[in-house]
Amino acid sequence: MKKISAEWDNPLFKQVQTQFEEAAALLSLDDNIFYRLRIPDKVLIVAVPFRRDDGRVQVVPGYRVQHNDVLGPCKGGIRYHQNVNLGEVSALAMLMTWKCALVGLPLGGAKGGVQIDPTPLSRAELQRMTRRYTAEIAHFVGPNRDIPAPDMGTNEQVMAWFMDTYSQIQGHSVPEVVTGKPVVIGGSLGRKEATGRGVVYTIIEAAKKIKMELNSQVRVAIQGFGNVGSFAHKKIEKIGCKVVAVSDVNTGLYNPNGISYEALREYVEKNNTLQGFSEAEMISNEELLTLPVEVLIPAASEGTITGAIAKNLKCRILAEAANGPCTLEADKILNQNPNLFIIPDVLANAGGVIVSYFEWVQDLQNFFWNEKEINERLWEIMQKGFHNVVKMSEEKKVSMRMAALMTGVHIISQAMLTRGLYP
Ligand code: NAD
Repeated sequence: MKKISAEWDNPLFKQVQTQFEEAAALLSLDDNIFYRLRIPDKVLIVAVPFRRDDGRVQVVPGYRVQHNDVLGPCKGGIRYHQNVNLGEVSALAMLMTWKCALVGLPLGGAKGGVQIDPTPLSRAELQRMTRRYTAEIAHFVGPNRDIPAPDMGTNEQVMAWFMDTYSQIQGHSVPEVVTGKPVVIGGSLGRKEATGRGVVYTIIEAAKKIKMELNSQVRVAIQGFGNVGSFAHKKIEKIGCKVVAVSDVNTGLYNPNGISYEALREYVEKNNTLQGFSEAEMISNEELLTLPVEVLIPAASEGTITGAIAKNLKCRILAEAANGPCTLEADKILNQNPNLFIIPDVLANAGGVIVSYFEWVQDLQNFFWNEKEINERLWEIMQKGFHNVVKMSEEKKVSMRMAALMTGVHIISQAMLTRGLYP
């Protein structure tokens, strides 16, 4: 492919393209569909100027990428991180397309982001930046076009400001423009916990598959204690397993007797860091990834499991809660390990977009479900998605990652061929 932009020269974009190319070859994908799906449908790059508390105006780049909308409106999170760029956002948008298709949602793939570290921003600065970013992309998104949600560095409050700004522009309340909102303004019960909970649902199915009993002897390590990692921790404890290690971007914690979710949550709420938590010893992120555990959950950012780390992984189940946590090199090494069961990202973390879909449906109908209904429906969809991928993997004799991608790409290509080419 001709290089369209240097910004697409990004390791994660290359990785998802390479994986897509492999899936396409195995599916003998129609050539026209292949070329169309290798790059996003539409990208928007915006300048986001906002006023800092000291009066200065700072300008940061913002992005929104829509990869494919053949199944329905695009869906995908908004990330605030200093490494956000067009390549990363495009890669994540493509992963969203496969993810929505493989679990059977009538939605396409999108992603957005702003290239900034949000942690030093005051609440007022974060709000001003979010409102300006929203205003810049408002004409590009919408309940029938593209519905954002939280991702790394964003949360329920950011979604609330996004929804309010979009609504001010439209002149009336439009809760259905964004998901992952607080419940009081049309958010869904269970959305906050959904990604972490869904990850654990897939671990339950994977354990059945490899005949591993899930009990207090099962040790779990989780990289990342943000939205996804923390709720995965909570749910892991609920099913009776033991979380022995947790980390954030600065540090890791290890206690072979288990780290209590509630104690850690309280500590992080007060201190905003894992550093100094007294009921565990400090370890590095690399040490956490290679600990002798039964289950490893990378729930931080992409590319944290490199080739060097992959050689030393000791877990039986690798549940990819983060998007793209394994580099291509790591993936090759891990695929040669017959004792390892990988639950690939597009399957493991699909719980978030599934409950986001429920939220959008509830907002459109102005009719809200209870949490039991939401969790039951989430469980049903995750289980079905898991078994479809296992079936593809066994029938085509491919890895779980390739099977997940093939399942998604096949559905998208069928839909594109059925709709045909306009004009
Ligand atoms: P978050 O910002 O709430 O938390 C991220 C956590 O990872 C923090 O604890 C941070 O300190 C840690 N971290 C960041 N970079 C790290 C690094 N290099 N090494 C170790 N730790 C690091 O983000 P989140 O929403 O929990 O998202 C985590 C991952 O899950 C991302 O890959 C995201 O794309 C993916 N994901 C999120 C959702 C969702 O609903 N939020 C849905 C699907 C997938």
